[in-house]
Amino acid sequence: MNSPTTATPDIALPHQMFVHGQWIPSRSGATLPVFNPATGQPLVEVPDATLEDVNAAVCSAADTFRSAAWRRMPPVRREALLLRLADLLEEHADELAQLETLNNGKLLMYSRLMEVGASAQWLRYMAGWATKISGSTLDVSLPLPPDVRTQASTRRLPLGVVAAIIPWNFPLLMAVWKIAPALACGNTVVLKPAEETPLTALRLGELAFQAGLPAGALNVITGRGETCGDTLVRHPKVNKVAFTGSTEVGRIIGAACGHNLKPVSLELGGKSPVIVLPDCDPQKAAEGAAAAIFFNHGQVCTAGSRLYVHESIYDDVLNRLARIGESIVLGSGLDEGVQMGPMVSSKHHQNVLRHIRSGIEDGAELLCGGLEPPLAQGYFVKPTIFANRDKKDIRLLTQEVFGPVLVATPFSDIENVIGEANSSVYGLGASVWTNDLSAALRITDELEAGTVWINTHNMIDPNLPFGGFKDSGLGREHGAAAIDHYTDTRSLVIAY
Ligand code: NAD
Repeated sequence: MNSPTTATPDIALPHQMFVHGQWIPSRSGATLPVFNPATGQPLVEVPDATLEDVNAAVCSAADTFRSAAWRRMPPVRREALLLRLADLLEEHADELAQLETLNNGKLLMYSRLMEVGASAQWLRYMAGWATKISGSTLDVSLPLPPDVRTQASTRRLPLGVVAAIIPWNFPLLMAVWKIAPALACGNTVVLKPAEETPLTALRLGELAFQAGLPAGALNVITGRGETCGDTLVRHPKVNKVAFTGSTEVGRIIGAACGHNLKPVSLELGGKSPVIVLPDCDPQKAAEGAAAAIFFNHGQVCTAGSRLYVHESIYDDVLNRLARIGESIVLGSGLDEGVQMGPMVSSKHHQNVLRHIRSGIEDGAELLCGGLEPPLAQGYFVKPTIFANRDKKDIRLLTQEVFGPVLVATPFSDIENVIGEANSSVYGLGASVWTNDLSAALRITDELEAGTVWINTHNMIDPNLPFGGFKDSGLGREHGAAAIDHYTDTRSLVIAY
C-alpha cells in the first residue's frame, strides 16, 4: 500500500553556515542543492564550503577554546547551558521535526521521538558529565631523590577543537552524539553534517548560540566530504576528529589522522546478524526481525540485515515476515498513516536498488519487495526480503545495503550459526532471540560485535558505550567512554 505526498510545511529553511554566532555564506558563493527525498524536488541551496570557509570556522573555534569563555567556564555553568540547549530543542520540536522529515524523509513521529526527543535527552545526560569529570591521586613509585616527598595526580583536560563529521541517517541525533560530550568536556566544535541533510544541524548551531554558548563554541559548516570534510580533518588547528559514516571514508580519515598524529574516533558501517533460536515464538521473531531491518527504512548502522532462523521455524517466521513487509505503507514521512519513507537521496536510492538486483542475480528467492517503484515520485524502495534457503554465497550477505533489504538464512547448528554471524568484516551489532538464557549468553560470548542485544535490537542508550569491532570502527561513544574520547590526561607531580 502506498500513500500520496502532502504539501511542504511552511517553515524557514536554513541556507547559510553558522560560524562564530552568525549566519554566513561561503566566501566563494558556491552552493549545494538540498532535496526533499519524498518528491525528489530541491528544497534550498546551502554553502559549499571552501578551504577559506573551513579555515575561518576552525580559527573561530580555536580562538574560543584559547579564551576562557568555554573551557574555563565553571562546570555547573557549562552544564546549565547544555541543559538550556536541550530545552530549546524541545521548545522548537515541531519546527525541527518537520525540517528533519522534509530533508531526510523519515516519519514525522520518528523525527519527534528520535531526532528531537532523544537529542534533548542525550544533551541532558551529557550535560551532567560536565560536573563529574575526574582524575585520580597516585603514589609515585620511584621518587627522585629517594627521600623527597611527593604527591601525584591526574586530571582530564579538554583537547581543543573537535572536528565532528556525521552522516545523513539521524542528522540531528548524530550531531548531538558528537557535540554533547565534546562540549561537556570543554572543547569547542566544528560540525560538518552530510551534504544530503544539513538543515537541522545548522539550526542546532543557532540554538546553541541562543542557549548562551559563546560564539565559536559550536560552528556548523556545510560542504562536500572530499573537499570541505577533507580540509577540516587535515586542518592543523583541529585537535581531534570524531567521525560517523562509511567504512570506506573512515579509512581515509583514519589514515589522515594517523599521518597527522591526531586522535580520531570512527563509528562506521555494519552488517548486523539477527539469530532466532528454535524455542522463539515465530510471531515475536518475525516482528522483532522486521523492526530490526525496517526501522528508519533500514538506514541504520546496526540494522539487522542478516537474519539466521533455526530450520525448525524458518518457513513459519519467513511467511509472517513477508506479510509484515508487504503490509508496510510507503509515502511521505509528513503523512499520517505512512510507515516507511523514502531513501535519503537519488544516489542512495540507486545504490539500494543495485543491491536488490545483486540478490536476484545471485539466485536468492525474493519473498517480498524488489525493484518495482512503489510510487510515481521520490526515492522509495519496497521493504524487500530474500530467502537464502540453499545458503548460497551471495553478495547481500557481505555488503552493507543501508536500506530496507533483508536476507534470511536457515541454520541447524549453533556453532555453525555463530561462525556465519562472525563471517562479516563488520562487527557493530547483533541480536539473539530466545527464552533460553544460557544459550543466549553462550552465543553472546562468541559474537564479534560491539553491542549484543537479547530479544531486542537497535537499542542504544546514552549511558552505554557504543561502537564497533573489526571494520565497524575505533573507539566508543556515550557514557564514561565518551569523556575519555574528548579529554586527554595530564599527570601532575608535587615535590615537598
Ligand atoms: P559517508 O562516509 O559517505 O559520509 C559521512 C560523512 O563524511 C559526510 O558528512 C560526508 O560529507 C563526509 N565525508 C565524505 N568523504 C569525506 C572525506 N574524504 N573526508 C572527510 N569527510 C568526508 O557515509 P554516509 O553515506 O553519509 O552514511 C552511511 C554510512 O554511515 C553507512 O556505512 C553507515 O553504516 C554509517 N553509519 C555508522 C554509524 C555508527 O554509529 N557506526 C551510524 C550511522 C551511520
